[in-house]
Amino acid sequence: MEKEKNNNLEEEYQKSLSDYFEADDAVKKMEQYKVIKKYFELVKKRKELDEKETKLYKKRLRIRYANCNHILVESKTDVIYDFEGRTYRYYGCIKCGLDEAVRERDYGCNREEVTMLELMKEYGIYRIDGIRTGIRCDLSEARDLYEDLKEKYPDADDEEMAEIFKNSKKAKKLMNKMN
Ligand SMILES: [Zn+2]
Repeated sequence: MEKEKNNNLEEEYQKSLSDYFEADDAVKKMEQYKVIKKYFELVKKRKELDEKETKLYKKRLRIRYANCNHILVESKTDVIYDFEGRTYRYYGCIKCGLDEAVRERDYGCNREEVTMLELMKEYGIYRIDGIRTGIRCDLSEARDLYEDLKEKYPDADDEEMAEIFKNSKKAKKLMNKMN
């Protein structure tokens, strides 16, 4: 290293050190005012509450996914262009929203999807077991339809709901939209 550069660095370091102490003194003086002390306490509390909310949000989704008897639609289909021309099907649940295809979307995900992906990685979930309806459609539209149908048939169990969903005209319309 060159001598001149070292000297500049030392000067820069000493300057930043004295700037730090100056700012630190100013903060300590300000903290003597009650309203400012209160402000710092509130900022700290807000950060803690924000972290707590994130933790509970994640836990809530984890419990929702774990306790769901999934009813599945095919939420995405990929054709693998090898010599066999195979297709790879992804399934998503119309009740809880858990979606195998979420790991194929690495941008434009909303908060629920980002958290879902985190949970899937944490628990090593790649395939979702459940009742397959044989319907291939957009998952969020299928979830809306499920909500509507569930309101109409509040007493139907999951097997019955899967049948009701599968046989509804609207599900067939959604499927046509995808094709
Ligand atoms: Zn589910």
